[in-house]
Amino acid sequence: MTKHSLFGDRVGVLATMHQKERVIAPLLERELGIKVVVPENFDTDTFGTFTREIKRTGDQLQAAKLKAQKALELTGETLAFASEGTFAPHPAFPYISRNREIVVLIDTINEIEIVGQEFSTDTNFSHKTIQTIEEVFEFAQKVGFPEHGLVVMEPSDEGKQEIIKGIITEKQLIEAVELILAQSRNGKVQIETDMRALYNPTRMKNIEKATRDLIQKIKQICPKCSCPGFDVVQRKKGLPCEWCNLPSSMTLLEIYQCKKCSFNQEILFPDGIEKADPAQCMYCNP
Ligand SMILES: [Zn+2]
Ligand SMILES: [Zn+2]
Repeated sequence: MTKHSLFGDRVGVLATMHQKERVIAPLLERELGIKVVVPENFDTDTFGTFTREIKRTGDQLQAAKLKAQKALELTGETLAFASEGTFAPHPAFPYISRNREIVVLIDTINEIEIVGQEFSTDTNFSHKTIQTIEEVFEFAQKVGFPEHGLVVMEPSDEGKQEIIKGIITEKQLIEAVELILAQSRNGKVQIETDMRALYNPTRMKNIEKATRDLIQKIKQICPKCSCPGFDVVQRKKGLPCEWCNLPSSMTLLEIYQCKKCSFNQEILFPDGIEKADPAQCMYCNP
Protein backbone atom coordinates (compact mmCIF):
# COMPACT_ATOMS: atom_id res chain seq x y z
CA MET A 1 0.00 0.00 0.00
CA THR A 2 1.45 3.34 -1.03
CA LYS A 3 0.58 6.35 1.06
CA HIS A 4 -0.59 9.58 -0.46
CA SER A 5 0.48 12.63 1.54
CA LEU A 6 -3.01 14.16 1.63
CA PHE A 7 -5.10 11.03 1.90
CA GLY A 8 -2.89 8.34 3.45
CA ASP A 9 -4.37 6.59 6.52
CA ARG A 10 -7.73 8.31 6.12
CA VAL A 11 -11.12 6.66 5.73
CA GLY A 12 -12.90 7.16 2.41
CA VAL A 13 -16.64 6.54 2.28
CA LEU A 14 -17.88 5.06 -0.96
CA ALA A 15 -21.50 5.91 -1.73
CA THR A 16 -22.82 2.79 -3.45
CA MET A 17 -25.33 0.03 -2.97
CA HIS A 18 -24.59 -1.80 -6.19
CA GLN A 19 -21.29 -3.40 -5.19
CA LYS A 20 -19.13 -0.89 -7.05
CA GLU A 21 -16.67 -1.28 -4.16
CA ARG A 22 -15.58 -4.53 -5.85
CA VAL A 23 -13.65 -2.54 -8.46
CA ILE A 24 -13.28 0.89 -6.83
CA ALA A 25 -12.11 0.03 -3.30
CA PRO A 26 -9.00 -2.11 -4.07
CA LEU A 27 -7.64 0.56 -6.44
CA LEU A 28 -8.18 3.46 -4.03
CA GLU A 29 -6.77 1.53 -1.08
CA ARG A 30 -3.68 0.44 -2.99
CA GLU A 31 -2.96 3.75 -4.73
CA LEU A 32 -3.89 6.22 -1.97
CA GLY A 33 -3.28 4.23 1.20
CA ILE A 34 -6.79 4.91 2.49
CA LYS A 35 -9.36 2.57 4.01
CA VAL A 36 -12.58 2.42 1.96
CA VAL A 37 -15.89 1.83 3.73
CA VAL A 38 -19.38 1.50 2.28
CA PRO A 39 -22.10 3.00 4.49
CA GLU A 40 -24.77 0.51 5.50
CA ASN A 41 -28.30 0.96 4.19
CA PHE A 42 -27.24 3.71 1.80
CA ASP A 43 -30.04 3.98 -0.75
CA THR A 44 -28.51 5.46 -3.91
CA ASP A 45 -31.75 4.78 -5.82
CA THR A 46 -33.23 7.93 -4.30
CA PHE A 47 -30.81 9.82 -6.58
CA GLY A 48 -32.29 8.21 -9.71
CA THR A 49 -32.64 4.81 -11.38
CA PHE A 50 -31.82 3.52 -14.86
CA THR A 51 -35.33 2.08 -15.06
CA ARG A 52 -36.68 5.64 -14.79
CA GLU A 53 -39.21 5.17 -11.96
CA ILE A 54 -37.08 7.67 -10.04
CA LYS A 55 -35.64 10.57 -12.04
CA ARG A 56 -32.00 11.47 -11.53
CA THR A 57 -31.27 14.48 -9.35
CA GLY A 58 -29.54 17.04 -11.59
CA ASP A 59 -27.01 16.12 -14.26
CA GLN A 60 -24.56 13.23 -14.04
CA LEU A 61 -21.88 15.13 -12.15
CA GLN A 62 -24.34 16.78 -9.77
CA ALA A 63 -25.89 13.40 -9.00
CA ALA A 64 -22.49 11.88 -8.20
CA LYS A 65 -21.53 14.83 -5.98
CA LEU A 66 -24.87 14.66 -4.14
CA LYS A 67 -24.31 10.97 -3.38
CA ALA A 68 -20.82 11.70 -2.05
CA GLN A 69 -22.09 14.60 0.09
CA LYS A 70 -24.93 12.46 1.46
CA ALA A 71 -22.41 9.77 2.42
CA LEU A 72 -20.31 12.40 4.24
CA GLU A 73 -23.37 13.61 6.14
CA LEU A 74 -24.41 10.10 7.13
CA THR A 75 -21.00 9.02 8.37
CA GLY A 76 -19.42 12.25 9.60
CA GLU A 77 -16.30 11.41 7.54
CA THR A 78 -14.31 13.94 5.51
CA LEU A 79 -13.40 11.99 2.37
CA ALA A 80 -15.99 10.49 0.03
CA PHE A 81 -16.23 8.86 -3.38
CA ALA A 82 -19.25 8.28 -5.61
CA SER A 83 -19.83 7.20 -9.17
CA GLU A 84 -22.54 7.79 -11.74
CA GLY A 85 -23.02 6.38 -15.23
CA THR A 86 -24.97 7.46 -18.28
CA PHE A 87 -25.78 5.76 -21.57
CA ALA A 88 -26.54 7.75 -24.69
CA PRO A 89 -26.12 7.52 -28.46
CA HIS A 90 -22.52 8.21 -29.53
CA PRO A 91 -22.40 11.86 -30.75
CA ALA A 92 -20.71 10.89 -34.04
CA PHE A 93 -22.29 7.45 -34.55
CA PRO A 94 -25.89 7.60 -33.26
CA TYR A 95 -26.48 3.87 -33.82
CA ILE A 96 -23.83 3.03 -31.25
CA SER A 97 -24.45 3.52 -27.52
CA ARG A 98 -21.80 5.16 -25.41
CA ASN A 99 -21.27 4.77 -21.68
CA ARG A 100 -19.84 7.67 -19.69
CA GLU A 101 -18.74 6.75 -16.19
CA ILE A 102 -17.53 9.30 -13.67
CA VAL A 103 -16.04 8.79 -10.22
CA VAL A 104 -15.79 11.84 -7.96
CA LEU A 105 -13.67 12.51 -4.91
CA ILE A 106 -14.78 15.06 -2.33
CA ASP A 107 -12.35 15.99 0.44
CA THR A 108 -13.80 18.48 2.91
CA ILE A 109 -10.55 18.91 4.89
CA ASN A 110 -8.49 20.03 1.91
CA GLU A 111 -11.51 21.45 0.06
CA ILE A 112 -10.87 19.45 -3.09
CA GLU A 113 -13.15 17.92 -5.69
CA ILE A 114 -11.62 15.75 -8.40
CA VAL A 115 -13.46 13.92 -11.18
CA GLY A 116 -12.27 10.85 -13.06
CA GLN A 117 -14.08 9.68 -16.16
CA GLU A 118 -14.27 7.04 -18.84
CA PHE A 119 -16.03 7.21 -22.20
CA SER A 120 -16.61 3.80 -23.73
CA THR A 121 -18.60 2.28 -26.55
CA ASP A 122 -18.08 -1.06 -24.81
CA THR A 123 -21.61 -1.49 -23.46
CA ASN A 124 -24.55 -3.84 -23.94
CA PHE A 125 -27.03 -1.01 -23.26
CA SER A 126 -30.17 -2.01 -25.16
CA HIS A 127 -33.94 -2.33 -24.96
CA LYS A 128 -36.68 -3.80 -27.10
CA THR A 129 -40.43 -4.27 -27.17
CA ILE A 130 -41.20 -7.90 -27.89
CA GLN A 131 -44.17 -10.25 -28.17
CA THR A 132 -42.83 -13.80 -28.19
CA ILE A 133 -40.55 -15.85 -25.98
CA GLU A 134 -38.32 -16.53 -29.03
CA GLU A 135 -37.69 -12.79 -29.33
CA VAL A 136 -36.90 -12.68 -25.61
CA PHE A 137 -34.19 -15.31 -25.94
CA GLU A 138 -32.78 -13.70 -29.06
CA PHE A 139 -32.44 -10.39 -27.18
CA ALA A 140 -31.02 -12.12 -24.09
CA GLN A 141 -28.33 -13.86 -26.08
CA LYS A 142 -27.31 -10.68 -27.88
CA VAL A 143 -26.75 -8.71 -24.65
CA GLY A 144 -24.69 -11.32 -22.82
CA PHE A 145 -27.33 -12.88 -20.54
CA PRO A 146 -27.06 -14.43 -17.96
CA GLU A 147 -23.67 -12.86 -17.02
CA HIS A 148 -25.47 -9.56 -17.65
CA GLY A 149 -28.82 -9.12 -15.90
CA LEU A 150 -32.10 -8.14 -17.53
CA VAL A 151 -35.16 -6.03 -16.72
CA VAL A 152 -38.70 -6.84 -17.87
CA MET A 153 -41.69 -4.50 -17.70
CA GLU A 154 -44.85 -3.50 -19.44
CA PRO A 155 -44.13 -0.98 -22.22
CA SER A 156 -45.21 2.37 -20.79
CA ASP A 157 -43.67 5.75 -20.10
CA GLU A 158 -45.79 6.41 -17.05
CA GLY A 159 -43.20 4.97 -14.68
CA LYS A 160 -45.96 3.30 -12.63
CA GLN A 161 -45.91 -0.12 -14.25
CA GLU A 162 -44.48 -3.19 -12.59
CA ILE A 163 -40.73 -3.54 -13.18
CA ILE A 164 -38.90 -6.82 -12.64
CA LYS A 165 -35.16 -6.20 -12.29
CA GLY A 166 -32.05 -8.24 -11.67
CA ILE A 167 -33.11 -11.23 -13.80
CA ILE A 168 -30.14 -13.60 -14.03
CA THR A 169 -31.57 -17.06 -14.72
CA GLU A 170 -33.59 -18.50 -17.58
CA LYS A 171 -36.31 -19.54 -15.13
CA GLN A 172 -36.62 -15.99 -13.74
CA LEU A 173 -36.71 -14.62 -17.26
CA ILE A 174 -39.52 -16.89 -18.43
CA GLU A 175 -41.55 -16.24 -15.27
CA ALA A 176 -41.10 -12.48 -15.55
CA VAL A 177 -42.09 -12.39 -19.23
CA GLU A 178 -45.15 -14.58 -18.62
CA LEU A 179 -46.24 -12.43 -15.69
CA ILE A 180 -45.92 -9.16 -17.59
CA LEU A 181 -47.53 -10.63 -20.75
CA ALA A 182 -50.52 -11.74 -18.68
CA GLN A 183 -50.96 -8.16 -17.39
CA SER A 184 -50.06 -6.40 -20.62
CA ARG A 185 -52.84 -4.50 -22.36
CA ASN A 186 -51.35 -4.85 -25.84
CA GLY A 187 -49.67 -8.26 -25.55
CA LYS A 188 -46.22 -6.70 -25.50
CA VAL A 189 -43.29 -6.74 -23.09
CA GLN A 190 -40.45 -4.26 -22.73
CA ILE A 191 -37.12 -6.00 -22.16
CA GLU A 192 -33.99 -4.06 -21.17
CA THR A 193 -30.44 -4.61 -20.09
CA ASP A 194 -30.01 -4.11 -16.33
CA MET A 195 -27.42 -1.34 -16.13
CA ARG A 196 -26.83 -1.50 -12.38
CA ALA A 197 -23.16 -2.25 -11.81
CA LEU A 198 -23.61 -5.53 -9.96
CA TYR A 199 -25.70 -6.93 -12.85
CA ASN A 200 -23.45 -5.58 -15.59
CA PRO A 201 -19.82 -6.71 -15.69
CA THR A 202 -19.16 -4.65 -18.83
CA ARG A 203 -20.22 -1.49 -17.03
CA MET A 204 -18.22 -2.53 -13.96
CA LYS A 205 -15.07 -2.53 -16.16
CA ASN A 206 -15.80 1.02 -17.29
CA ILE A 207 -16.25 2.11 -13.66
CA GLU A 208 -12.85 0.58 -12.93
CA LYS A 209 -11.33 2.60 -15.79
CA ALA A 210 -12.95 5.81 -14.51
CA THR A 211 -11.45 5.06 -11.09
CA ARG A 212 -8.00 4.68 -12.68
CA ASP A 213 -8.52 8.03 -14.40
CA LEU A 214 -9.43 9.60 -11.04
CA ILE A 215 -6.25 8.20 -9.46
CA GLN A 216 -4.18 9.52 -12.38
CA LYS A 217 -5.68 13.00 -11.86
CA ILE A 218 -5.07 12.84 -8.10
CA LYS A 219 -1.41 12.19 -8.89
CA GLN A 220 -1.18 15.27 -11.10
CA ILE A 221 0.08 17.81 -8.58
CA CYS A 222 -0.03 21.60 -8.99
CA PRO A 223 3.61 22.78 -9.32
CA LYS A 224 2.79 25.90 -7.30
CA CYS A 225 0.62 24.83 -4.34
CA SER A 226 0.94 21.00 -4.50
CA CYS A 227 -2.82 20.50 -4.68
CA PRO A 228 -3.78 17.26 -6.47
CA GLY A 229 -6.02 17.31 -9.54
CA PHE A 230 -3.88 19.60 -11.72
CA ASP A 231 -5.72 18.97 -14.97
CA VAL A 232 -6.28 20.01 -18.56
CA VAL A 233 -8.90 22.75 -18.84
CA GLN A 234 -8.34 23.64 -22.50
CA ARG A 235 -6.85 22.15 -25.65
CA LYS A 236 -5.71 24.32 -28.56
CA LYS A 237 -5.58 23.03 -32.11
CA GLY A 238 -3.03 24.13 -34.68
CA LEU A 239 -0.16 21.63 -34.71
CA PRO A 240 1.81 22.65 -37.88
CA CYS A 241 1.54 20.37 -40.91
CA GLU A 242 4.67 18.40 -41.70
CA TRP A 243 4.54 19.48 -45.38
CA CYS A 244 3.18 23.03 -45.52
CA ASN A 245 3.68 24.16 -41.92
CA LEU A 246 0.18 25.64 -41.75
CA PRO A 247 -1.88 24.98 -38.61
CA SER A 248 -3.80 21.69 -38.69
CA SER A 249 -6.75 20.49 -36.62
CA MET A 250 -4.44 18.45 -34.38
CA THR A 251 -3.65 19.53 -30.82
CA LEU A 252 -0.81 22.03 -30.46
CA LEU A 253 -0.97 22.62 -26.73
CA GLU A 254 -2.89 21.87 -23.57
CA ILE A 255 -3.50 24.28 -20.71
CA TYR A 256 -3.41 22.78 -17.22
CA GLN A 257 -4.98 24.64 -14.34
CA CYS A 258 -5.08 24.22 -10.58
CA LYS A 259 -8.60 24.33 -9.16
CA LYS A 260 -7.32 25.68 -5.88
CA CYS A 261 -4.78 28.43 -6.67
CA SER A 262 -5.66 28.91 -10.38
CA PHE A 263 -2.01 28.54 -11.41
CA ASN A 264 -1.85 27.47 -15.04
CA GLN A 265 0.69 26.02 -17.38
CA GLU A 266 0.84 25.46 -21.14
CA ILE A 267 2.16 22.13 -22.34
CA LEU A 268 3.29 22.22 -25.97
CA PHE A 269 3.00 19.09 -28.15
CA PRO A 270 1.04 17.05 -25.56
CA ASP A 271 0.71 14.10 -27.94
CA GLY A 272 4.50 13.84 -28.23
CA ILE A 273 4.68 14.99 -31.86
CA GLU A 274 5.74 18.40 -33.19
CA LYS A 275 4.38 18.10 -36.74
CA ALA A 276 0.99 17.00 -37.98
CA ASP A 277 0.40 14.18 -40.43
CA PRO A 278 -0.45 15.89 -43.77
CA ALA A 279 -3.57 13.70 -43.86
CA GLN A 280 -4.90 15.92 -41.04
CA CYS A 281 -4.06 19.12 -42.98
CA MET A 282 -6.93 20.89 -44.73
CA TYR A 283 -4.61 22.22 -47.46
CA CYS A 284 -2.44 19.18 -48.22
CA ASN A 285 -5.25 16.65 -47.91
CA PRO A 286 -8.56 18.33 -48.66
ZN1 LIG B 1 -2.28 25.20 -7.11
ZN1 LIG C 1 -0.27 20.90 -45.00
